[in-house]
Amino acid sequence: MKNRAAFVTGIKEMEVGFTEMPDCGENEVLVKIAYCGICGSDVHFYEMGEDGFRDVYPFILGHECSGIVEKAGGKVTNLRPGDRVALEPGKTCGKCEWCKSGKYNLCPNVEFLSAPPCHGAMRDYTVHPADLCFKLPDTVSLKSGALIEPLAVGLHGVRQAGVMPGKTVVILGSGCIGLVTLLSSLLYRADRVIVADLFDVRLERAKELGAWQVINTGSTDVIDKVMELTEGLGADIVFETAGNPVTTALTGKLAKRGGTITLIGNTPGKTEFEFLEIMNKEVEIKSVFRYRNIYPMAIRALENKSIDIEKIVSGIFPLEEAKKAFDTALYEKKTNVKVMVEMQRE
Ligand SMILES: [Zn+2]
Ligand SMILES: [Zn+2]
Repeated sequence: MKNRAAFVTGIKEMEVGFTEMPDCGENEVLVKIAYCGICGSDVHFYEMGEDGFRDVYPFILGHECSGIVEKAGGKVTNLRPGDRVALEPGKTCGKCEWCKSGKYNLCPNVEFLSAPPCHGAMRDYTVHPADLCFKLPDTVSLKSGALIEPLAVGLHGVRQAGVMPGKTVVILGSGCIGLVTLLSSLLYRADRVIVADLFDVRLERAKELGAWQVINTGSTDVIDKVMELTEGLGADIVFETAGNPVTTALTGKLAKRGGTITLIGNTPGKTEFEFLEIMNKEVEIKSVFRYRNIYPMAIRALENKSIDIEKIVSGIFPLEEAKKAFDTALYEKKTNVKVMVEMQRE
């Protein structure tokens, strides 16, 4: 059996070649990967590499993946060949304070697919711990299975924020993470979800997915508009998903007295933040790092058709065209929400 893989060979360079067929440990499964989505973090590594990992090339990216079990290790009891699975990409130690308290996303010893030096899943075959491979019901497609990873970020965000019926939510940013936060807020029955972004193409998608109101921040003052839409009160919950210091600084002005801000986008550098304003309103600030204990619940939501996650997909490319897929994700950010690479079809 040959194992094709897409390798990043340098800054903005990618080649499809072959990698070794991995050995399957007794608690692991060998998975024939079907789909692998391209994450913002993958695009970032493709575009600029990562400090401290300049000698990691050729490197395999990708952590948003699904596939079919080809072989199960001797001690695996939950899966067998032919099972369709979604892979949770973080292999944690199980021994530290955070693993033991259930907050395993904070494990300092994690090996996360596609985070250097741990290679990713954009290849035909990979091995993965069986307890991190979640079986998909027949009614959930492999494509949806690969989208559980970004969806999990949104679901963890709404859990952190305490979204529930009656709440008014503002989401800053309508890219992939903004949209999964929108879908997750609707799953948790937020009543009014307002999405703000600079680009109309993205806002139209938010509207299609169920946003109550959308605001183009290029032409409309987002603070004025949110106040107008919320009877001058502000939002119960404000999500920052754009990873932008300017929008992050706005969150305190958009939150209602006693409201909650939840930071999901990775905002680089320093942000000017008026803490006094936050304190005077007793606003709570929460943050999100990846997710924990979400996959089983996300699979159930997909099975019950409570969420149509495939609507965030904007393009699918075969593995041979992985470079084109990355260039599309990199250069056409405005129109592309989620680009995926397909190793095999259903
Ligand atoms: Zn991701
Ligand atoms: Zn740990």
